[in-house]
Amino acid sequence: MNNNYMNNFDLKIPTKFIFGKETIEKKLKDEIPEGSKVLMIYGGGSIKKNGVYDKVITALDGYSVTEFPGVRSNPRYEKALEAVKIIKEKEIDFLLAIGGGSVIDLTKFVALAAVYKGNDPWELTKKIKTKEEEPTKVMNFGCILTCPGTGTEGNKYCVISKEEISEKMSVKTLLICPKFSILDPETTFTLPWRYTRNGIIDNFIHLIERYTVSDNSNFVADRFAEQLMKILIDCSRILKENPKDYVARSNVMWVSSVHNMGLLEAGNYRECWLIHLIGHQLTVMTNADHGLTLACCLKGVWTHQKKRKAAKLKMLAENVFGVTEGTDEEKVQAAIEKTIEWFKSLGMPTTLSSCNITKEDFTKIGKDIDNIFMKKQKLPGIGAYFDIHGKEVIEILKLCDF
Ligand code: NAP
Ligand code: FE
Repeated sequence: MNNNYMNNFDLKIPTKFIFGKETIEKKLKDEIPEGSKVLMIYGGGSIKKNGVYDKVITALDGYSVTEFPGVRSNPRYEKALEAVKIIKEKEIDFLLAIGGGSVIDLTKFVALAAVYKGNDPWELTKKIKTKEEEPTKVMNFGCILTCPGTGTEGNKYCVISKEEISEKMSVKTLLICPKFSILDPETTFTLPWRYTRNGIIDNFIHLIERYTVSDNSNFVADRFAEQLMKILIDCSRILKENPKDYVARSNVMWVSSVHNMGLLEAGNYRECWLIHLIGHQLTVMTNADHGLTLACCLKGVWTHQKKRKAAKLKMLAENVFGVTEGTDEEKVQAAIEKTIEWFKSLGMPTTLSSCNITKEDFTKIGKDIDNIFMKKQKLPGIGAYFDIHGKEVIEILKLCDF
């Protein structure tokens, strides 16, 4: 109680959310300016199998539409440059992303890169971080989300990879909040369990990376996060049995948007993105699914940072997992075990070997962390207190299950 505080904050949520059944058919056209030349960006073809593609094509009758398919998971910078080339050749003026985090993030990066005046838009990933440059222009774009979890449909982040230099970078600027996001939970009925589970776990870990900072004790953010985590746990169990449960699909979709749009950062002053930053390095090495890498890093991060995170892990055990018995220390341990138990109950692997990482890779991961964050971004370190370096990351990896 005594430690409760509420920092000053500015919160602007520029994205218009359009939620519910038949929203593509009924609402898409109203959101794209008449006469636009639209680049329709999508992935490997799931939208063709589940009918979303046909609905979009019908809704866009009368517009000039160019298709840009083939965006893969963990989208690549080189693919973004291909899109920029087409935009210039065809004088495209509106981007429409249809898919999950990968398609939307690529589109966000393209929206910045297409109007970037410098030679190499990759520079933006560094310049925005070091505050050397704040972009002022972006192309207009909207999204149709088909795979919830990342929260990218309503936030100011995008994540893009340049594999040749082992970098998976996040870019942060309010400019890349989509103009609109259409969220029709029925589009997610066809999501295979692997991606449903990945999305739920990614979503849960976005909550956790904000929640488990013990000197953050903003009541609104804490109680809000706990309730959302419980909803995710309940819905994961329902969807494992019945992937077409509309209410569970709706809740999973909206939970993700609702907190990732900035509501949980409001009033807090620290976040600890260690699980994500280490997970990104695993993905760059082996292209392992984002959600999988997070599930595999969590135990190592929490064990390494246990003392610092103790107050929040205890609260997690009590308020989310309903642990009432035991000493404080036992409750902290219970939080770690119950979380991993829940992942396993969803069939989510939790070992580094399931991400195709070997122990020999640890040294390279440590070096890459030092290179990306300390050398290039000139940060003192990573984590909530900026004191984690490659050396500590290797210690963390050793504490993960293998
Ligand atoms: P994803 O990579 O966008 O999609 C995963 C798979 O799901 C793809 O194979 C896709 O197939 C399939 N899929 C999508 N919708 C489907 C549907 N309705 N039915 C059947 N299959 C469907 O997964 P994601 O987890 O949403 O995104 C991961 C990326 O987001 C990572 O790069 C991660 O780093 C990033 N991320 C971004 C943020 C942020 O704030 N910007 C936060 C966390 C993570 P198709 O390709 O065939 O469509
Ligand atoms: Fe994530």
